[in-house]
Amino acid sequence: MESTTCCIVGGGPAGAMLGLLLARAGVDVVVLEKHADFLRDFRGDTVHPSTLELLDELGLAERFAELPQEHAPTLSMVTDEGPVTVAEFSALRHPHPYIAFVPQWDFLAMLTDEAGRYPTFTLKMQAEAHDLIREGGRVRGVRYRDRDGEHELRAQLTVAADGRHSALRCAAGLTPVGYGVPMDVVWFRLSRRESDPRQEVALRLVTGGLMAYIGRGTYWQIAYIVLKGGYERLMSAGLDVLRAEIVSRLPFLADRVGELADWNDLSVLDVRIDRLRRWYVPGLLCIGDAAHAMSPVGGVGINLAIQDAVAAANLLAEPLLRGHTSVDDLAKVQQRREMPAAATQWMQRVLQARFIGPLLRGTRPPVPPLPARLLSHFRPGRHLIAHLIGVGARPEHVRLPVPDSVPRG
Ligand SMILES: Cc1cc2nc3c(=O)[nH]c(=O)nc-3n(C[C@H](O)[C@H](O)[C@H](O)COP(=O)(O)OP(=O)(O)OC[C@H]3O[C@@H](n4cnc5c(N)ncnc54)[C@H](O)[C@@H]3O)c2cc1C
Repeated sequence: MESTTCCIVGGGPAGAMLGLLLARAGVDVVVLEKHADFLRDFRGDTVHPSTLELLDELGLAERFAELPQEHAPTLSMVTDEGPVTVAEFSALRHPHPYIAFVPQWDFLAMLTDEAGRYPTFTLKMQAEAHDLIREGGRVRGVRYRDRDGEHELRAQLTVAADGRHSALRCAAGLTPVGYGVPMDVVWFRLSRRESDPRQEVALRLVTGGLMAYIGRGTYWQIAYIVLKGGYERLMSAGLDVLRAEIVSRLPFLADRVGELADWNDLSVLDVRIDRLRRWYVPGLLCIGDAAHAMSPVGGVGINLAIQDAVAAANLLAEPLLRGHTSVDDLAKVQQRREMPAAATQWMQRVLQARFIGPLLRGTRPPVPPLPARLLSHFRPGRHLIAHLIGVGARPEHVRLPVPDSVPRG
């Protein structure tokens, strides 16, 4: 039987950041990650100004700058009439006025590597939690399996940071409320040439269709947005139809759509938005996608997960060091983070219901939504949209000093 102070299940953005912050504050922490590595393509690479500022606060700016990355100073919507800049991140009064695109595995490797410098941090890869240990009406840790077999890890606090299909929240009897979503996203990449348009991040609007393309150095990362369940229809229509659709939307890709050789070159995101009513039970707290799965609209998922982790560390490090985390302590994390998650999900739902759904069904013209059209005419308007996306509601800051007594490993 192993034991720790805080057991975090999931080494995604929420779990990795919480592990780092707690270890940095001197809390004994074990992160369990079921995969052998962090390699997952297209798992959200958007690091927003709010997260970049947190990295500054953690003294990680230089390490982050060394990671492969591209910066997007604007977000455009491209219609048949040409591009409209709807968000101008470069107008933000912020130390990092852009969205950084960084492979998520590099980002997670950086966070866990930094956390590994503190002696109270342990990361166990290929360790999958499958059940909770409960005693006296309280969660006391998890049962997990790794290559050596079954184990029990007891903990004062267990954090479910195991993503939108969270097994732990299910084991705790917590069920999220789901909100209808009209779309799914098909991701793929095509190579990028010198002669291509300059837009770093753009949404192409056509009658009955929407496609995002993101400049990633030598390739375009493309999100082909379909109506919910539309992937099956796409598959039965055939790859040639998809290739032709892509070319009709972005003709400059005509010379390379052949790079989509078979369906394995595409990956599908089943978009969902949901949120737990209560993010905790005694001894267990859910954060990140486990508490609130986000739509990819705005690319905010990672950033909200990280903000949850920062709030949880700010509020829980002291009770953890004291030796007892009460239900009230866990409730404070939900009280702090529920509004930003709910407000962001509300904006995503409005955009999906009024703009994306009707656009995909062909019942509204392929033009940007009216508020974006109006705001895009003025710099302060483009600045406002950039602030909503890049900084969001209630950005968190690292409040935990590094205690002098914590030796670095
Ligand atoms: C295809 C795709 C594209 C996306 N694109 C974007 C984007 O562009 N921008 C953006 O901001 N967001 C995007 N998102 C959403 C974003 O990835 C999530 O919002 C964000 O990663 C949530 O972080 P998290 O740490 O809460 O959960 P996750 O990133 O899901 O991490 C959960 C971790 O827990 C591990 N795990 C799960 N179960 C267990 C278990 N039982 N035991 C041990 N470990 C476990 C998983 O392996 C994973 O590493 C995308 C999501 C998907 C699926």
